[in-house]
Amino acid sequence: MAAARDLAVHGEMRFNEPMSRHTSWRAGGPAEAFFEPASIDDLASFLAELDRDTPLFWHGVGSNLLVRDGGLPGVVVSAKKILRDLERLDQYLVGAGAGVACTQLARQCVRWELGPSEFFAGIPGTVGGALAMNAGAHGGETWERVESIRTIDRRGEIHERAPAEYTVGYRSVTGPANEWFLGATFRFEADVIPSLENMNAMLERRKRTQPLGLPSCGSVFRNPAGDYSARLIEAAGLKGYRIGGAEVSEKHANFIINRDDASATDIEELIEHVRQTVLDESGVSLTHEVRIVGELPA
Ligand SMILES: Cc1cc2nc3c(=O)[nH]c(=O)nc-3n(C[C@H](O)[C@H](O)[C@H](O)COP(=O)(O)OP(=O)(O)OC[C@H]3O[C@@H](n4cnc5c(N)ncnc54)[C@H](O)[C@@H]3O)c2cc1C
Repeated sequence: MAAARDLAVHGEMRFNEPMSRHTSWRAGGPAEAFFEPASIDDLASFLAELDRDTPLFWHGVGSNLLVRDGGLPGVVVSAKKILRDLERLDQYLVGAGAGVACTQLARQCVRWELGPSEFFAGIPGTVGGALAMNAGAHGGETWERVESIRTIDRRGEIHERAPAEYTVGYRSVTGPANEWFLGATFRFEADVIPSLENMNAMLERRKRTQPLGLPSCGSVFRNPAGDYSARLIEAAGLKGYRIGGAEVSEKHANFIINRDDASATDIEELIEHVRQTVLDESGVSLTHEVRIVGELPA
């Protein structure tokens, strides 16, 4: 067992890596160590040898992530470059590595005429992130399609798992502790042919209704049962409200945009302000969907 700094790896290990480079909010403090393994073997032997008490955090592309300005202790693993396999396994089954972009999965499934799959095109993250979040859009959800999952644990051992081993809900997934997704097999349906037109229409709708050119993490809050967070935030008069460089989007009230070099603290304070104001105005307690991780600044 050794510290990350003392382990020989084939991939790239960087220290004090700004996570603002690896999050779609373009904000956040540094990772103590940021590891991009060269292969699954490299990853497995690193995990097998790493001190058990070193914190580990798995990163997709950071499209649902707020890393506090004090940064992330331990090691951030970014394995997306080595988990890129995407193949059709039989008539209905598709195998996808955790590093495959959801948009790529959607486009390939349209080519293969396997649906329903268009919804994946609306999720600007990886398959790994979509599995961790049960990401969904336009009426579809990741885990509705999961047939089996491949994971790696802290010792570097690989497991084949079944969906029954996970508890899956709206933007929430819990399963075996201290395991991360290497990939999944997805089952699509015989009589659902996806169309590029549908997919493009969905993406067009997003462009019209979401501030897509600006740094954000998509929807900040989960929708409460029977209502929409965006509606409640707008009704509370919060569109355009700013703290530091962070702003509630005028275009879509459930988006917080990094308008002007926002710190993660600005964003987190704005999230809390929105939550408290909506609670005061409408009595609804919103829960954030974005993952907030790391340490507060000293
Ligand atoms: C403009 C915009 C629009 C969006 N629209 C949608 C939408 O319509 N629907 C929706 O659901 N989401 C949406 N999102 C949010 C985001 O894209 C999804 O939550 C996505 O699934 C996150 O994937 P990621 O690869 O970026 O994960 P990250 O943000 O890097 O990580 C998110 C979480 O997943 C964990 N994780 C990542 N990879 C793995 C892995 N291999 N194994 C285990 N855990 C892992 C991380 O530890 C973290 O807890 C949007 C975001 C943006 C910026």
